[in-house]
Amino acid sequence: MTENIFAHFLENVCSYFEKRQPSINTQDLWYDRARNIPDQAMDWLEKRIQEEFEMFPRNLPSVMWALYRRWLESDPTKQSEKTYFDCPECDGMGNIFLKKYNELNNARYYYVFACARCGQNINKTYPRSRLPQLLKAGYEEHPQIHTPGDVSRNLRSMVAGIGKEVRSDERSQKG
Ligand SMILES: [Zn+2]
Repeated sequence: MTENIFAHFLENVCSYFEKRQPSINTQDLWYDRARNIPDQAMDWLEKRIQEEFEMFPRNLPSVMWALYRRWLESDPTKQSEKTYFDCPECDGMGNIFLKKYNELNNARYYYVFACARCGQNINKTYPRSRLPQLLKAGYEEHPQIHTPGDVSRNLRSMVAGIGKEVRSDERSQKG
């Protein structure tokens, strides 16, 4: 969903339960986790939360994903649309972005893998693997792609470097 639709949804749910809006930081983190839920599901989600919950859900993104799965099941025609689902090992779209230190060149390189846990990324150019195995093999997560506000820009720059090994330059990454 778009950031606007999420903001509107959050405002409605908060006011329904007479809860103060969470901090901008929290809103960004929640949006980041729930952004792959499509716009069309959002009105339905809002109604379900208002009807089925006694109070504001503690872990809103998890509740949204659980309800979204029900939304998909409620109408089989929705299943034919491209749908994403929450996966704890990737970015929710089947991509795992990692970096690894290369001793020979004394530099860190970025890598992209297709998540083998959820299989959402069907692009065959990326090697398929699981996050725990990759971490054991010396790859590191790079938290900057999870920094609220930087997410789309960093993802774009990383996607642009796919297929190549991109020399890590922390300063240019941050703009
Ligand atoms: Zn995954």
